[in-house]
Amino acid sequence: MTVGNLRNAQLKINLQAIYANIHHAKERLDPGTELFQVVKADGYGHGAVQVARVAEKAGATGFCVAILDEALQLRQAGITEPILVLGITDPEFASLAASEKVSLTVGSTDWLKRAAKLLEDSHFTGHLNVHLALDTGMGRIGFQTPDELKNALGILEANDDSLLFEGIFTHFATADSPDDTYFKLQYQNFQNFMAVVDQRPRYVHVANSATSLWHKVCGGNMIRFGISAYGLNPSGREITDLPYQLQPALSFTTEIDFAKLVKKGHSIGYGATYTTDSDQWIGTVPVGYADGVPRAMQGFSVLVDGQPCPIVGRVCMDQFMIRLPHQYPYGTMVTIIGKSGDAEITADDVADYLHTISYEVICGFSSRIRRKYL
Ligand code: PLP
Repeated sequence: MTVGNLRNAQLKINLQAIYANIHHAKERLDPGTELFQVVKADGYGHGAVQVARVAEKAGATGFCVAILDEALQLRQAGITEPILVLGITDPEFASLAASEKVSLTVGSTDWLKRAAKLLEDSHFTGHLNVHLALDTGMGRIGFQTPDELKNALGILEANDDSLLFEGIFTHFATADSPDDTYFKLQYQNFQNFMAVVDQRPRYVHVANSATSLWHKVCGGNMIRFGISAYGLNPSGREITDLPYQLQPALSFTTEIDFAKLVKKGHSIGYGATYTTDSDQWIGTVPVGYADGVPRAMQGFSVLVDGQPCPIVGRVCMDQFMIRLPHQYPYGTMVTIIGKSGDAEITADDVADYLHTISYEVICGFSSRIRRKYL
């Protein structure tokens, strides 16, 4: 998508905040425990390469992405640290991943057999690094029983000329919940799996942000740190007790690019869903649902000069309208996420309004919005 460089609408990304969040997370880790920064979905919308570079400086020793293309983007940008693809990659791409030194996640013995055969057929001489995913209760991907895992370890051993057992991991479904009953059950399952592993691989990893914040890292030597590097609480507002202050890295500002006094009784926007009940100043803002401001934001208040101004009428593809307390000149700043005067809108405020989580809000901003790095 074309980037809007010539309009006043930007996501400002504070790289210092990302640095500080990662630095604090690292400080709490046991010696020898590494931090891999999760930069999938373009670094949760913050820019994968820019986040990876600052994360390296803050002490990240590797990266996690969701898909192979994201790993290759980091390699093309000159990032040489280990990269793990967390999703399932088609074994067809095993030799491409291996040649780029990208580690792949594996959750079935069929995948291992197929990848080993394809690597052999391709006459690739190096190794493909694999991390075995264990489904301890997330129900998404991974080996489901210790017996399945044992079979996988056997296949790895039989194909040690092409496959390298580099890591083993699981993912907790409820690490961000105050009730740790299910977390404990998953941890017990993880221990049952690990009992069949004679030789631990280089990386054993179980912790996402929430696990690293609120649970003792369960015997792993690497954490997969995602949302909290971006300064957001993984639980939303459920757990407010944080071991260090998280600094949100992203703000979203734009401007009033048109404003007019609308007489009482006029309607605003598609569907004419809002009608002025008095003479009102209505401002127009040059972003819309194609930028990641969904139609469901109708009624949400953005900030102008520290004051909340509700979105009136439907959000359009590229613009929305707000009710102003009085006339403001064109070019007045509008804050959608961030501070304005004494007021602030957080990604969690937007998430609450949309009945979702901050993850979805920050990943939802489209590539049309210019990212500006501070
Ligand atoms: N590990 C895995 C397997 C994930 O899927 C994710 C994110 O969804 C993470 C780690 C990072 O999680 P968080 O952003 O909550 O730290």
